[in-house]
Amino acid sequence: MTQRHYLTSDDLSMSGQVLSCTRTDDGQYEVVLAATLFHPQGGGQPSDPGTIGDANVLRVSQVDDQVVHMCDREVPVGDARIEVSSAARSLHARLHSAGHLIGFCGEQFGWRAVKGHHWPGEARVVFEPDGDPREMTGDIIEQQVNGHVDAGLSRAVLLDGDKRTVGFGSLPAYSCGGTHVASTADIGKIKISKVKEKKGQVWVYYDLEQ
Ligand SMILES: [Zn+2]
Repeated sequence: MTQRHYLTSDDLSMSGQVLSCTRTDDGQYEVVLAATLFHPQGGGQPSDPGTIGDANVLRVSQVDDQVVHMCDREVPVGDARIEVSSAARSLHARLHSAGHLIGFCGEQFGWRAVKGHHWPGEARVVFEPDGDPREMTGDIIEQQVNGHVDAGLSRAVLLDGDKRTVGFGSLPAYSCGGTHVASTADIGKIKISKVKEKKGQVWVYYDLEQ
C-alpha cells in the first residue's frame, strides 16, 4: 500500500523509495513508490506532474491501494528524489478549493453539488435541487465566493482512518481526497464564466483570474 503524503502535507519534494518499475506495452514505465507526494487523478482533480529521479511523471493513478506513476523512462529500484511540479500543484489546488467554495455557495441557494470537475480550462460544479432551490446567477456566486477569498479562511484537514474532510474557516467541511490551498486568499479572484441549466441540473463553470 502506497503511503499518500499529499493527504496531510504540502511538501513538493522528498527522498523516496522506488519499489518497482515495470515497462508497459506502449514503452512507458509504471513506477510504484513506498510513499508518494503525487496526487493521482481522481475526485475531480488531475494528477500532479513532476519527476522521479531522471524520469518525468506523465500520469498518476490510484490502482487498488497502490499509487502508480506512469513515467517516460526507467527508474532504478531504490532511493530516488521525488519532485512535484509546484506550478501545476498550485493551480490544481486553487481550482479545487474554488470548487468547494462554489459548492458551499450553491447550498445556500437550495442546491446540492453532485459533481466537481476542477480541471484547468474546463472547471465546473454540477448542482441538483435540494429542498427549495432558488435562482443562482454568475454575479451572485462570484460575489459570495470572492467574499470567502477576501476573508482569507484557513484550511482545516481532518484525517480519521480512511475518512478525510477538508474545510475552510467555519464553513462546512466536505469529504475530499484532493489537494487544497492553505488559505482561501491563495485562490485569488474566482470568475464564474457560465451558469447553465441542463435537465434540472445547474452547471456552474468557473476559472481563476490568473
Ligand atoms: Zn474536493
